[in-house]
Amino acid sequence: MDLKTNKIVDTQLVQKNEVKNSYAMELDGLKRGLAKLQEEQIAISHLITDRYSQIKKYMRETHPNIAHWFDCWHIAKGIYKKLEAIGKKKKCEVVGQWARSITYWCAMSSGGNGELVVQKWCSILNHACNVHEGHGPLFPKCEHGDVENSVWIKQGTKAYQELEKVVNGRLLMVDIKKISPVEQTSGVEAFHNVFCHFAPKLLHFFHAQMDARSKYQPCISMKIQIDSRQPIRTVNQFTQYRQPKNRRGDGIAKEVKVKQTFDYIDELFEDLLLSREVNGSVVHVRQVIDVDEQARPLPLTRTGLCLNKQDIIDAHRSRFNK
Ligand SMILES: [Zn+2]
Repeated sequence: MDLKTNKIVDTQLVQKNEVKNSYAMELDGLKRGLAKLQEEQIAISHLITDRYSQIKKYMRETHPNIAHWFDCWHIAKGIYKKLEAIGKKKKCEVVGQWARSITYWCAMSSGGNGELVVQKWCSILNHACNVHEGHGPLFPKCEHGDVENSVWIKQGTKAYQELEKVVNGRLLMVDIKKISPVEQTSGVEAFHNVFCHFAPKLLHFFHAQMDARSKYQPCISMKIQIDSRQPIRTVNQFTQYRQPKNRRGDGIAKEVKVKQTFDYIDELFEDLLLSREVNGSVVHVRQVIDVDEQARPLPLTRTGLCLNKQDIIDAHRSRFNK
């Protein structure tokens, strides 16, 4: 997805049996996508992804010219889960109370300059102990004004040590330098959610059908409609908010957006019917779009070992002495 315009520039479909295991699917999809864009002579300067170690290694070694960033909310979510778990431990309850603020701080720390990001992020260890200065040469003191009374953590306590382990985590220290300063991948997540309406995970589709569903452009335009809806403004130009509850029951503020429309569904049906009229049969369509059907991977059901049913029943019986 081009994150400036919110447009999907390419989709790649990877079937599990095309790669070694399901973990390798993300990387393979990325490799194919990058190759495709290169083929189309589209230059990529920045790429934002989740923190998959395979992808990190591949980008570092194969595409050193592309600046690789990580989505801040993926990193923040990982940190929140760890802090929440610590908060459940004895004598560490206070860390749980800080989890939300620390998670937001992680997302706020992004700024492009790796060393500054690290110092900004680590300042949370001082801040949580009511120390607001002396964080480091690039970020010497907190930028907030007077702070209200808060639940401070005492240095040297078990809670502090546990928090320190998370904040100074070895992998996190490396990755946080590359936390994306501007764009994030939430648009792609939204696109995936919409796509699941067109290809529900509970239903089985063969490769060709899945391919067609993933390429159908109107579904992409629908995504754009959803993601780029503008917030509603009052006569005084204030943004309107609603207050849904999250899973913990806390209130959170969300912008009220312009109502979405579903005109694309009619367009989809019209396109489909027109295509049926023009092309007559599926065989004809396949000739027109010139897809090499032989190049498709075998269905998953045909790649496993074909075992004899009677052998399986016998093995089951002998195991349970029936
Ligand atoms: Zn502070």
